Amino acid sequence: MRVAIVTGASSGIGFGCAKKLVDDGIAVLGTGRDAERLAGLAAETDPDRIATVAVDLTEDDAPQRVIDAALDRWGRVDFLINNAGVGSPQPLHETDDDTLDHFLDVMLRAPFRLARDVLPHLRAGSAIVNVTSTFAVVGGLRGGAYSAAKGGLTALSTHIACQYGAQGIRCNAVAPGVTVTPMVEHRLDDPRFRKINTEMTPYPRLGRVEDIANTVAFLCSDAGAFINGQTIVVDGGWSSTKYLSDFALDAEWVPR
Ligand code: NAP
Repeated sequence: MRVAIVTGASSGIGFGCAKKLVDDGIAVLGTGRDAERLAGLAAETDPDRIATVAVDLTEDDAPQRVIDAALDRWGRVDFLINNAGVGSPQPLHETDDDTLDHFLDVMLRAPFRLARDVLPHLRAGSAIVNVTSTFAVVGGLRGGAYSAAKGGLTALSTHIACQYGAQGIRCNAVAPGVTVTPMVEHRLDDPRFRKINTEMTPYPRLGRVEDIANTVAFLCSDAGAFINGQTIVVDGGWSSTKYLSDFALDAEWVPR
C-alpha cells in the first residue's frame, strides 16, 4: 500500500485531499495542529488507511516527527503533499517582520524541510505536490508575505523536479484560486472580495475543496506519471483570462 503525508489535513483542502487519497487506496498520515479536528478526519476515514499527528510545522523537530509517524505505521512514504498554510496577508508596506517570518516559516521553510527530510525515503514512482496559489502565478492584491512564500514554493517545486526527476521522483505544484474553506469563508461576506473573484471568473462558481483534491490525487496517480515540474492552476480561469461578468460590465462607473 502506498503512503502519503498530507500537511494541513485538519481543515479545508488538506482534509479533502486526505479523504480523496484514502478513497483512492492510499494510506494517509495527516497533520495539523488541532488534534480534535484531526480526530474528526480519522473518524470519517477507513481506519486501516489513516493516521494523524498533531504538530506545529514551524517547530524544528516537526519534519522528523511527521516522517517517523508515517514510517512507524506503514514503513514507507510515497507522496508528500505540502498543503498547510495561513491566509489573510497584508500588503508589503503593512507587513512586519514577525508576520513575514511566520508566513515564510509555514509555507516555505516547513515544506522545504519536509521535502528534504523525506527524500531519502522516496523511491522511483514517488511524488511531491506543493499547494501554492494563484498569487504565485499572477499579481495578488494584498499578497505580501503570502505571495513571497508561494512564489518561493513554486521555484522549489521546479528545483525538486529537476534535481530528483532522474530518480523517478516527480514534483509539481497545484495553485488553487479562491476555494471555499475556513481560510476564506469569512472573506466571502466582503462584497469587494466577491467582486474581484466571482465577477472575474468565467466559470460560474467558486472553487470547491474537491476540485483541488482531485487534482492532487491525479498528480499522485499513474495517469499523472509523466507530469513533472508543472504548476496546475485550478481557478475556473480567473488567472488566465481578463474576464468580467455581465454584472461587472454593466455596473455603473463611479469616478474616483
Ligand atoms: P484552512 O482550511 O485554513 O487549513 C489550513 C491548514 O493548515 C490547517 O489544517 C492548519 O492546521 C494547517 N496549519 C496552519 N498553520 C500550521 C502550522 N504552523 N503547523 C501545522 N499546520 C498548520 O486553509 P485551506 O484553504 O484549506 O488552505 C490549504 C492550502 O491551500 C494553503 O496552503 C493555502 O495557502 C492554499 N490556498 C488556499 C486557497 C483558498 O481559497 N482556500 C487559495 C489558494 C491557495 P490547524 O488548523 O490544525 O492548525
